[in-house]
Amino acid sequence: MTSARGYYDQAFRLLQQHHGWFREALPLIASENVPSPAVREALATDFGNRYAEGWPEERVYAGCVYIDQVELLCIELMKKLFKAEFVDVRPISGVVSNLVLYTAFTNPGDVMMALSIPCGGHISMGKKKLGGTAGAVHDLVVEYLALDHKDLNIDVDKTKRRVERLVQKGRPPKLALFGGSVFPFPHPVRELADTFYEAGATVAYDAAHVAGLIAGGCFQDPLREGAEVVTLSTHKTLFGPQHGGVLSQDRHSDRIKQAAFPGLLSNHHLHALAGVAVACAELLEFGEAYVRQVVRNSKALGQALFERGFDVLAEHKGFTESHVVLVDITKYGDGGSIEGELEKANVILNRNLLPWDIKAGRHFMHPGGIRLGTSEVTRLGMQENEMAEIAEFMMRVVIDKEDVEKVKKDVAEFRRDFQTVHFCFENATEAYKYVKIR
Ligand SMILES: *Cc1c(COP(=O)(O)O)cnc(C)c1O
Repeated sequence: MTSARGYYDQAFRLLQQHHGWFREALPLIASENVPSPAVREALATDFGNRYAEGWPEERVYAGCVYIDQVELLCIELMKKLFKAEFVDVRPISGVVSNLVLYTAFTNPGDVMMALSIPCGGHISMGKKKLGGTAGAVHDLVVEYLALDHKDLNIDVDKTKRRVERLVQKGRPPKLALFGGSVFPFPHPVRELADTFYEAGATVAYDAAHVAGLIAGGCFQDPLREGAEVVTLSTHKTLFGPQHGGVLSQDRHSDRIKQAAFPGLLSNHHLHALAGVAVACAELLEFGEAYVRQVVRNSKALGQALFERGFDVLAEHKGFTESHVVLVDITKYGDGGSIEGELEKANVILNRNLLPWDIKAGRHFMHPGGIRLGTSEVTRLGMQENEMAEIAEFMMRVVIDKEDVEKVKKDVAEFRRDFQTVHFCFENATEAYKYVKIR
């Protein structure tokens, strides 16, 4: 029988094992990143034990003197990074940010347009029958933006025709949500914004994946291109702790604030908020250099995989303009089993549906694709040459079917030179060092 102390020790043992593993692995999950030691320090503070309901300086709790100042700092930084008139940094995740958007701008039963999940949409934009947040939680009727499968981007003309048909049928969209979880190319917000405005819709943009790229000035600028509201996660290309945020024009501030609190939040994870402020200061200083390298790396990774025989999508467009690379893996197996094989070799990435997978009879557990992201390895100091090495490791596992134990050893050896976080002010502690304060 396990004693209380046994459980306690076991929890810490597992945490330490996780840190040890990531120290030797290649972290290529496109929705993840590694925060700086400064962000980790902020996460460990007492802020995480407090409440601060309401808006800074109008709280309904005492004890918020310093919390208010940090939140205002975070807002100021985000306004600068995104050139936004209004910022609410309280939503605790990307999904909650989208729920704030739905609550503020739609009523249950309204039509929303977004990408379908196989086409890159996120489950928070999903239909009711899929259990997606938009449909199952806010009762929105989700209609799809059209995707050009070859270009991996929204098809402007087809989408315009779909909007027209919805208007004719008396079911005009009330919300258009650009953005997605497979997001290799900037979406045609400028080309479609007027179509949606004329139909009476609010135009929004989910920047969960690309917030860091936008802040670093390297992707697109949705608020200048016609989006009125932007939702985000703070831990994907933006290298902060797990949290969310909503940006908009000033005229929408009241309804967003109201939807966030009292609508969707009570506490808003103040330690994470402090970490976001720290990460935003880092991004203000190092963001441009960081995102340039992220994009250079993902293009180089796409090219290196392609040269080794992988079916990397969108070759004719240079594979990607973001942190994401998408590979059709059906020549070698299915996304689920390939993900598992690579994990055994300490190459950590995820399976992904391809736009045509559902029609081809494939489903999420065994999809046709894998998705890779270069944000975290870039943060560890890797550049184009290292992308070729990563492609080589993947080839050895997936194509050459080499012994995964052997590749795993080589991956660990390769990782030795990349142990600190770059693009931050201070990095005295290693990226995945287990920090003990007990
Ligand atoms: C990751 C993601 C989200 C959800 O973000 P969380 O912070 O995990 O809640 C929302 N939208 C898109 C497009 C995403 O990729």
